[in-house]
Amino acid sequence: MIDNIENVLINGNLRYQWKISQGLENIEVNDKIPKYPVLILTCFDPRIDVHRIFQLNPGDIFVLRNAGNLYTQDTLRSILLTVYQYKIKYIIILGHLDCCMTKIKLLELKRKIPYEFLSYQSGENLDLFSEIRNFFKPFIDVLRNIKQQVENLQRLHMHKPEVKITGMLYDVETGWVFEYDKFKEFAFIENFRKYYKTVLREKKDQFIDFIETIENEIINNDELEKNMLEKDLDEEKEGDLDQLVDKVEEFPIYTENNEKFVTPVKIQNQKIELDENFNTQMIMPKIQVPKIHFPGVKIHIPKISRKKDEN
Ligand SMILES: [Zn+2]
Repeated sequence: MIDNIENVLINGNLRYQWKISQGLENIEVNDKIPKYPVLILTCFDPRIDVHRIFQLNPGDIFVLRNAGNLYTQDTLRSILLTVYQYKIKYIIILGHLDCCMTKIKLLELKRKIPYEFLSYQSGENLDLFSEIRNFFKPFIDVLRNIKQQVENLQRLHMHKPEVKITGMLYDVETGWVFEYDKFKEFAFIENFRKYYKTVLREKKDQFIDFIETIENEIINNDELEKNMLEKDLDEEKEGDLDQLVDKVEEFPIYTENNEKFVTPVKIQNQKIELDENFNTQMIMPKIQVPKIHFPGVKIHIPKISRKKDEN
């Protein structure tokens, strides 16, 4: 497997290209980079896919990663660039449950790294032999670490008040992200775990509200499309009737078994006729993808308007 990793990755990219060609993936290229003035500093843990968990697209936000989502000298360089060059307004420290930085055994690690390498890396500014604890910066509490990093960044906020610094907590096992308000009152992660059910109940209420919003958006979206179609027809009624010929639209029709499916038809002088070239076997399911907007993030909800004809 490991010898084959380049093939695995390149095949993955070919699949991605195939999806782009099929319209199943899209690359949105925005003039404005990033689309949202947000920088997320998170852990290098491979279970965290920032774009996936917030349903973002390439180009939407800046993401910085290191072991333990730590505000370090190296991240400072990137942070300053994003703030002063790209006008970032939010910095979010995204920590997570089950972080490996709480489990590092420094002595064991020191024994594993070759002595020659450590001595070669040890210079005037960084003595890795004695600084190994600071260099790898392990921490014992995920929640305290997020709060510590937010606090460390407050100095930047003092000089640049329009930049808001906040923290979030991600649960790698459930996919839930908790806002700073949901956990900042807890002193340790164990307190958070103790009240996890209560916090999760709040998230579920939030989720129910969100689903209602989505359903309304979809209904509004359907009505908007219907209105637009009716408007098109109204406008055409007023125009030259000859121009109506060969206008192709989609209409639901029913089979003998009363199965509903959508098929392209020609609208001729307001009369609907099936296009003789149309083959029902060749038509793929029509999938509507309404774009749902809520603050800062865009979510795509696929809605299958009909099932594939099984005949
Ligand atoms: Zn981690």
